[in-house]
Amino acid sequence: MPSTRPEASTNRCRIDIRGLSKTFLAEGREVVAIDDASFRIEDGEFVALLGPSGCGKSTILNMVATLIAPTGGTIRVDDVPVVPGRPIRHVGYVFQKDTLFPWRTVEDNIGYALELAGVPADERRRRVAEAIRQAGLDGFARFYPSSLSGGMRQRVSLMRTLIARPEILLMDEPFGALDTHTKLDMHSVLLELWERARQTVLFVTHDLGEALTLADRIILMSARPGRIKQDFKVDFPRPRDAVALRETRQYAELFSHVWHSLGEEFAKGRSA
Ligand code: ADP
Ligand code: MG
Repeated sequence: MPSTRPEASTNRCRIDIRGLSKTFLAEGREVVAIDDASFRIEDGEFVALLGPSGCGKSTILNMVATLIAPTGGTIRVDDVPVVPGRPIRHVGYVFQKDTLFPWRTVEDNIGYALELAGVPADERRRRVAEAIRQAGLDGFARFYPSSLSGGMRQRVSLMRTLIARPEILLMDEPFGALDTHTKLDMHSVLLELWERARQTVLFVTHDLGEALTLADRIILMSARPGRIKQDFKVDFPRPRDAVALRETRQYAELFSHVWHSLGEEFAKGRSA
């Protein structure tokens, strides 16, 4: 699949979040999950939203995904205000939770979005076959999710979203449940797929290594109530090798730099 846009980013803002806040009401108590968060993501940028568990990462992502309504502030996607409950067509989501249909085979899970969109059967078959090849799922097209490993199921989930060719990709700890090696495998798969299409990505994680491996920029959140604490540029060259990168000096240096700041938030989270 050829790259959908030129190498150089156009510096067009795709996601613009300003003064975002979210307060939940839980058992009669107000929980401030997000407090005055602002950031922008430009076209083709891969941004990791990093922070300790419970700091509000998913809450931000779910607001961008139109799944929940903000208490205050604004979210604009391509300059259009986001309306809760009204999904945006060119935005795709991949979540940690396995949302595959157990009664559909790998190929029918991957092709589901194209079926919904009424894509003719011929084109659907061609695109599903291409997706299966790109994700390294050859030979598994007729398998059901229950007979796949966790890593393979996540490959299917990823392709099920990517097949619709979303320009913006929201990912919430999609590899969070995988073991270390399978996770690294998935980083390689994702990096390769992303190099082809250069989607604009907002990727939620609590794993610093994952953020450094994948992203151009890390937005670090503070422990609850979630605020934006710091913004780090990750300027390792691309294309990246997910395994070899971890042995480089630049990786070790940036890791310890961000780790210091993240560690403070882990500690706060513990004492909260
Ligand atoms: P993260 O994804 O960073 O682990 P979340 O965004 O899931 O954090 O949660 C942030 C905070 O908001 C947590 O304290 C969580 O308990 C609270 N929270 C999230 N969703 C709800 C909800 N639906 N009702 C009440 N509290 C919630
Ligand atoms: Mg979460």
